[in-house]
Amino acid sequence: MDLQTPVSQVSRSYKMYAQRLEKLGITKIQDFLFHIPFRYEDYSLISKINQIQAGEIVTIQGTIKDIKNQYTRRFKTLQKAVISDDTGEIEILWFNQPFLTRVLKIGDSVSVSGKVDLDRNKPVMITPNYEVIFNNQTVHTGRLVPVYPETRGISSKWLRRQVFNILEEKNINDYLPEKILKENDLINLNDAICEIHFPKNLEQALKAKERLSFDELFEIQLAALIRKKSWQEKEIKKEWKIDNIKIDKLIKSLPFKLTNAQKNAINDIIKDLSSKKAMNRLLEGDVGSGKTIVAAISIYISFLNGFQSAFMAPTEILAKQHYDTISTLLSSLGVKVELFTSGTKIQKIKDLRLKNKDHKSSIINHQSFDVAIGTHSLIYKKVSFKSLGLIVIDEQQRFGVEQRSIIRQKGDNPHLLTMTATPIPRTVALTMYGDLDLSILDEMPKGRVKIKTWLVPPVKRDGAYLWINKQVKNGDQVFIVCPFIEESESMVTVKAATKEFERLKKEVFPHLKLGLLHGKLKAKEKDEILKSFKDKNIDILVSTPVVEVGIDIPNATIMLIEEADRFGLAQLHQLRGRVGRSDKQSYCLLFTQSTNPQTLERLKSLETIFSGALLAELDLRLRGPGQIYGTAQHGIPNLKIASFSDFNLIEKTKKEAIEILPEINKYPLLLERVNEINLKQVSPD
Ligand code: ADP
Ligand code: MG
Repeated sequence: MDLQTPVSQVSRSYKMYAQRLEKLGITKIQDFLFHIPFRYEDYSLISKINQIQAGEIVTIQGTIKDIKNQYTRRFKTLQKAVISDDTGEIEILWFNQPFLTRVLKIGDSVSVSGKVDLDRNKPVMITPNYEVIFNNQTVHTGRLVPVYPETRGISSKWLRRQVFNILEEKNINDYLPEKILKENDLINLNDAICEIHFPKNLEQALKAKERLSFDELFEIQLAALIRKKSWQEKEIKKEWKIDNIKIDKLIKSLPFKLTNAQKNAINDIIKDLSSKKAMNRLLEGDVGSGKTIVAAISIYISFLNGFQSAFMAPTEILAKQHYDTISTLLSSLGVKVELFTSGTKIQKIKDLRLKNKDHKSSIINHQSFDVAIGTHSLIYKKVSFKSLGLIVIDEQQRFGVEQRSIIRQKGDNPHLLTMTATPIPRTVALTMYGDLDLSILDEMPKGRVKIKTWLVPPVKRDGAYLWINKQVKNGDQVFIVCPFIEESESMVTVKAATKEFERLKKEVFPHLKLGLLHGKLKAKEKDEILKSFKDKNIDILVSTPVVEVGIDIPNATIMLIEEADRFGLAQLHQLRGRVGRSDKQSYCLLFTQSTNPQTLERLKSLETIFSGALLAELDLRLRGPGQIYGTAQHGIPNLKIASFSDFNLIEKTKKEAIEILPEINKYPLLLERVNEINLKQVSPD
């Protein structure tokens, strides 16, 4: 067995665990070592039995004098042991673990860690961690004990044992150059791995964390630089010309003025398109920020240079919508727009072929359009291009890396514009997707009605309810989002929402029609409730936070969010986006029980900032290291150990990555790790 051996090939028992381990990102032996503990249990105080105090967390090491099962009522069992050392004896109790009498035998040297309780004035330990001492070493007791992310059937105790055994046998070779270690005052990899799992003290764990955080951010950025380099290796055959007069004419013909953010994005794109390298740009902007027109102008530039464009959207509805928009904008300028969806009939494809008298070719004749708009069918259907110069991908996270590369191969080094509405903080985008250039539409078109947002102090709660009552009487509809309790929507969350729903129905809005929506309902029930809400048979829809309200309900104008402090700012922003979908004034009311001034300040930023990307960035800056909100924030990928709010380290590692890039081939171990990152799906989502 070496560190690269796949888990499933190690042994039969490992094979059984393989699927579960994969959930934790462990597929080969080495991955155990990079499965990082998120905290430590401090069992490092080893005490003599006659010294221990009630309430202390201690470790006792001694000999088992006695251990037996006792049966209590209802077939439950109790395991009672007596442990002694040279200073005394103590009783230990466990519950319902009858196998313990087989694991721990009279005469064994054992180590137990846990809290000391008192039973009729005598110290006793109840359900402590335990192990038989072997080779004078302990793994689960008597030290700082690592606690890992777990999954069903894979406990921290089991993981700890695997890591310990691997570390006893293996050394892990460092892949960072000596020079980088020295300059950045980093410990070597083998020490870092040993000490992140089994540190002697917290300072040691911290040093290990520093080293591994460095690696993580360094590798991510190096991977992006390598992607960028390979993207830029090829030059464009002939640089594109920018016909400013024609572009201005198109812009002037629009029924609205471009926002400054749109103008900036278009300028960024023009610069890219007129350069010798293929564009690879991510355009980020909230729903409604006007990304399509930016795409349309890019497509027009491609057309003016004699190139075709492909515009991909994740759904048929979106593709059709884009088809309508692009046709309206560009048809009169001579641009031929064609729609391809999976619904596009073979007959039409044949017609197109006939029209071009191209019977022999098994592909659609490329002469027939300037822009092909469609879904995945653009990739898989036999759509070919004569001269594909630009690819636009909407909601790009919905397409895999492979799909993106297939479509690229349909042209000769085409330009690529990807678009997303996911609020990814700028810092995160620049780190994770450093190969992409970034334009952010952080400004909504003028004339949109802003969603009036207030952080409501608790004393004004009754007033808010009265106001909601009045608004509903005037015909408005309301969302009430219940507190976020657990990561996935468990019964706990559902119960809390149900309770709040009952309370509101009985005590607060007895004369209104309320509905309850949560993730444990059947799909049909959900649809019915949403339909009732849409048909105005429900005035107030109470829901759990994880329930996505997919459909558009323009008449819903009030969003009330409970315990808002449990959400990230970008998440709150997305929740509030469920209202404000008509020209009626909409409102968002935030409640919190927190009195922490920083929390209140953080929430108040929603009153004045209306860009998802800006809020996401702010969230990152305000978030102390290690502080996590209720749920993983959209648009921020999970890092194993580093933090995206560690701006210094991001800077430092970026500098090092840029420096090492030209000589990366001298470091095969490092290159291998980085290539592995690039093989995995790397896409903003
Ligand atoms: P998204 O960024 O969500 O794709 P769209 O491009 O669909 O947004 O634009 C949303 C709506 O806003 C469209 O109806 C579009 O015509 C309009 N729009 C785009 N830009 C502006 C602007 N600068 N001023 C006013 N309306 C605009
Ligand atoms: Mg769009």
